[in-house]
Amino acid sequence: MIPIAKPKIDEEEIENVIRVLKSGIIAHGEVVREFEEKFRDYLGVRYSVAVSNGTVALDVALKACRIGEGDEVITTPFTFIATANAILFQNAKPVFADIDERTFNIDPDEVLEKITPKTKAIVGVHIFGHPFDVDAILEICEDHNLILIEDSAQAHGAEYKGRKVGTFGIGCFSFYATKNMTTGEGGMITTNDDEIAKRCRLIRSHGEIGKYNHVELGYNYRMTNIQAAIGLAQLKKLDDMNEKRRKNAEYLNRHLKVEGLIKPYEAKHVKHVYHQYVVRLTEDFPMSRDDFMEYLRRNGIGCAIHYPKPIYKQPLYVRLGFGDYRCPVAEEASLQVLSLPVHPALSGEDLRHIVEVVNSVA
Ligand SMILES: *Cc1c(COP(=O)(O)O)cnc(C)c1O
Repeated sequence: MIPIAKPKIDEEEIENVIRVLKSGIIAHGEVVREFEEKFRDYLGVRYSVAVSNGTVALDVALKACRIGEGDEVITTPFTFIATANAILFQNAKPVFADIDERTFNIDPDEVLEKITPKTKAIVGVHIFGHPFDVDAILEICEDHNLILIEDSAQAHGAEYKGRKVGTFGIGCFSFYATKNMTTGEGGMITTNDDEIAKRCRLIRSHGEIGKYNHVELGYNYRMTNIQAAIGLAQLKKLDDMNEKRRKNAEYLNRHLKVEGLIKPYEAKHVKHVYHQYVVRLTEDFPMSRDDFMEYLRRNGIGCAIHYPKPIYKQPLYVRLGFGDYRCPVAEEASLQVLSLPVHPALSGEDLRHIVEVVNSVA
């Protein structure tokens, strides 16, 4: 079976972890600080704060911005649930703006329509590794005095006009096992704002300044040295792994030929890092999506639907009163999308097999 995702773990990760275990300092410490510095330098941003996962990164970033009850935060409904949940954690209200049908990213025109006097922030998501329209969203933020949070959980190393994502607003990254780089579980917040960075550090660790001196209500959202040790090895090869993802995507783009199958789009001024290779199956496609998925699996190809419904249709959100939302582009996408394997552990043979199986569907 060719899995839909697979972490690339080599000797360096293993040796790094063994070194930390033998050092005896296995919780938060110097290795985390080193990982923060290297990640910060890689992106070209001033501050980075490592946390225990990507959900926590979003939660801490919103808390650091003092988003709270009565505030509205505009985001996309076509993302992983954590993006919107992080807004609910603040007792703030997620407001969903529809997406662009080519990139699956939040549509700036739709964002404009959703702005009210209560709007405090926009959480954009660089979905599947393709950056959202940063210039347009930044302009809206400036015009309306809004904070920009970039959910970059799927876009480590992706670029918008030559600059890495997570450096335009407050960046939130995940290092979950399936992401472009991993620490098993893990997360990072990136910012150029020293006040935000300071507040993130406080919230991450019990609001502590100096030993047992607590100035704020904080949590234990720390990353461990063991996680950071894996992250250091992963970061070194992130560019290579992304390059492999891009090559794999290029191969699939070149060779997949089935009527009604729309391949992923890459805007001219961006560098897509293909967290997922997402195709659309339109009416002209010769099989239903369910039948096609079963056919792929029978032929040893893992696949998945990202995402089967817009967030406002999730049972939790229906119960909270979001059920009447309508984002037609996101709704149509959720019925048509299918993710095929694109991860860096794919072999040439794997790629040829995927092409042969998909192309023989008609
Ligand atoms: C993975 C992911 C998250 C959450 O990260 P975790 O590390 O799993 O908590 C948030 N947003 C998006 C878009 C993601 O893909």
